[in-house]
Amino acid sequence: MVILLAESMPTPVSHALAGTSVYLWSRRGRDPWFFLAAVFAACFADLDFMLNLLTGKNYHHYFTHSLAFATLFFGASFIALKALKRPDPGRDAAILFLAYLTHMGLDLFSKDTTAPFGMELWWPFSKEFAIAPVILFDDIERGTLAKLFSAHNWLAVGREVVIVGPIVAASWWWSRKRA
Ligand SMILES: [Zn+2]
Repeated sequence: MVILLAESMPTPVSHALAGTSVYLWSRRGRDPWFFLAAVFAACFADLDFMLNLLTGKNYHHYFTHSLAFATLFFGASFIALKALKRPDPGRDAAILFLAYLTHMGLDLFSKDTTAPFGMELWWPFSKEFAIAPVILFDDIERGTLAKLFSAHNWLAVGREVVIVGPIVAASWWWSRKRA
């Protein structure tokens, strides 16, 4: 778990908030399972940490953080939603695709202290790594439990909540107004 959280930039907190925001914008009404699916889609790219654990190599910020992989995720979601007999699998898959895109959107604006900086956004067409010229989110210190729960990291999470939280609040307000 330490390794899973260690190199997330930003942490799953802001990704889950972004997924929540997309869910609220989608106006699906009360749909807890779809809400969980949107949060899962927004966090999915960081499951590349599992590959790190399995292979001992670094896959973080590689192909799972690409637009092509997000498109594959859309296709897989569509098939799964159709199999689950959702009334509008195309629309739901598009919403989950949007939630997936927020992941790269947030990671692009995150401080990265280890090369290659940013993520392999254009995989498999290019091996270039993309990062925004402006950094909004701080990095997460890692290595030991003490570092993981350091003041630096709490401040970094606080910063994520301050930036992404108002977007969730605005989305909630908007969804209530449209309900
Ligand atoms: Zn990520």
